[in-house]
Amino acid sequence: MKNIYFDICAGAIFLILVFTFNRRNLNKYRMFSMFYMISLTSLFCVAADILMEYTVNPLPLSRTAVFLGTIFSFVYKFLRNATLVIYLVFIFSVTRTDYRIRSGKMRGILWAPNCLTILLLVTNFKTGWVFTVTSEGGYARGDLLWVLYVVSALYAFAGIGYLIVCKRYLDTEKFFALLFVYILTIAAVLIQMVRPELMVEMFATAIGMLITMMFVIRPEERIDTTLGVQTWKTFQGDLFNTILSRQKIMLMVIQADHGEEKREFFGDAVYYAYVREIISCVEQYCKSTGVHYEIYCEAPANIYLIIDENVLPREPEQMAAGCLEYFHQRMKQGSEEEMWFHPHICVIRCPEDLQEYSEIINMCHRFTVMSSEEIVCASRIVGTRDFEIQNHMENILNRAIEHNGLEMYYQPIYSIAEGRFRSAEALARINDSVYGMISPAVFIPAAERTGMIELLGMAVIESVFRFMSEHDLKKAGISFIEINLSVAQCVQPQLVQRIQELQERYGIDPSCVNFEITETMIESIDRVMSDNLNRLLEMGYTLSLDDYGMGFSNVGRVRKLPLRLIKIDKSLVDDMFTDEGSVIIRNTVEMMRGINKQVVMEGVEDREVLDALITMNCDYIQGFYFSRPLPEKTFLEYVMTHNNVQAAGGT
Ligand code: C2E
Ligand code: MG
Ligand code: MG
Repeated sequence: MKNIYFDICAGAIFLILVFTFNRRNLNKYRMFSMFYMISLTSLFCVAADILMEYTVNPLPLSRTAVFLGTIFSFVYKFLRNATLVIYLVFIFSVTRTDYRIRSGKMRGILWAPNCLTILLLVTNFKTGWVFTVTSEGGYARGDLLWVLYVVSALYAFAGIGYLIVCKRYLDTEKFFALLFVYILTIAAVLIQMVRPELMVEMFATAIGMLITMMFVIRPEERIDTTLGVQTWKTFQGDLFNTILSRQKIMLMVIQADHGEEKREFFGDAVYYAYVREIISCVEQYCKSTGVHYEIYCEAPANIYLIIDENVLPREPEQMAAGCLEYFHQRMKQGSEEEMWFHPHICVIRCPEDLQEYSEIINMCHRFTVMSSEEIVCASRIVGTRDFEIQNHMENILNRAIEHNGLEMYYQPIYSIAEGRFRSAEALARINDSVYGMISPAVFIPAAERTGMIELLGMAVIESVFRFMSEHDLKKAGISFIEINLSVAQCVQPQLVQRIQELQERYGIDPSCVNFEITETMIESIDRVMSDNLNRLLEMGYTLSLDDYGMGFSNVGRVRKLPLRLIKIDKSLVDDMFTDEGSVIIRNTVEMMRGINKQVVMEGVEDREVLDALITMNCDYIQGFYFSRPLPEKTFLEYVMTHNNVQAAGGT
């Protein structure tokens, strides 16, 4: 009897692997499913090996033992050789080049050597060329057993060769881990050839699988355990390799709106159940279309699908429309999510639409900024000015800071009581040498994302202070200028000190400057932010609340804050001629005045709105009706003309 202890240990390892994968439902992912199949096949293989050892000992054998020994030996050899083919397929999927072996021809080439093995094994029942099991002799090797070894060696060397060819698709750790598995297997086969009684082959495979699990598969890293789906990091890696390997793919990006707010509002448990529901819906849709896909999720609720373009049953846009339709149908079937799931879908064909990794990622994240459509085809956006700007935002911001590309515009604010312009809001624009004028709605969020808001925000303040120091604005009738502060600026510990430096350099009277903060800022107020705001107030600056009415406005909190003005958002003004809208705006103004806040109406575009607002006792009006934001010089001329003053020139 041979030494079966190695086999028993190997069996235990395979059993744990199979159990783990089943329990965690990991085998639905392509790479994982290959790994799972190898583990499962190896488990049967090892079982057949052990059973064979028991049936072919001791001699002489009964007829049943001869029969069973033959069957077990057949199963062992059959599965053992199949494992090597599956491992090769696994290498293809790890390197994300498995699309290369998806055609019938390639599959044929891949399985052809193994077919020879199968043929030999099947005919072995008659010929005994591979092995024999006899009553007196027990198990004996046949004359053509070497063919099986040659076929195995062929697969092993093909695997090693392919690994070397695809080395650039793998990080060093993965590459060496996979290579080591082959070396280990070859070493074990050689040992077993010389000393068959040791039976170390399956044990070596088991160790190899463990190494693969730890260094290549790394399920904890690839899978988000809460959602049971592949992570954003995995998506990035897979996308990168897909681009490198020039595979033709279609990316489908599904963005659920206001994910973060919903998570906060509904709590983790409800929210994650909701995202899981969406994911399962997407999966069912993909399965129903028969596409090859991989699915990933990025917090809070962006879903990514990498779909093999070679087996795409419909045009990309139709796929997206079908998916959306499927969502609506599913959600209608009695689940409450219908009311709060409004996805936007983007389809990107690679490499047709986009080839660059950074451009693709940018498109994935920003297609909703570039288009307001429910279904966005990258092909329609690529090449547009918006797209170019989004992709070159960092360069644009750098240029603006380095070459003074930032221009401040001033929008006059009209005082109803005084019948003239009392203040103005400073609004930033970038005048870029390549893309021309760029709106702050585009570059402010980008500056916040890239951490450049600190520099940009200070450049804004400096520009406004310089303007104020160069002109006697009071003489023009302008008592104060409003400057927007974003959340990212307010949390900077250095903010107040920098403002103070600029204030001293330009000799600014703080009472002539009012900083605008937004509602979101109040919600997320933290210590640094409230310290900053309090210190600005102590220095003599004032604060106002911008865009009131956009979020979940909280009057209680507004009352407690030392705010000079409340600026009512344009969306409320736009609604003012509807029944409900007029009630809302009238009561909002009344309420604000009741708690001693002055009210500025933003976005007033015509006389009719202005007249209505005057009857409501608003204090200030800002809007295109009076003037659009204007460059420094034009602004001065405009307010002086309208405020009936003579030149306000240099001080
Ligand atoms: P905001 O602070 O609410 O500024 C008002 C926006 O409404 C301005 O857009 C202004 O041009 C626009 N607006 C004013 N009246 C009308 C009107 O009658 N009709 C319409 N349709 N629009 C009107 P702008 O200049 O594009 O600025 C957009 C946003 O970008 C600003 O909204 C503000 O949040 C931000 N922003 C602008 N400059 C700065 C800045 O220097 N720093 C920071 N942090 N944010 C800024
Ligand atoms: Mg503002
Ligand atoms: Mg506003």
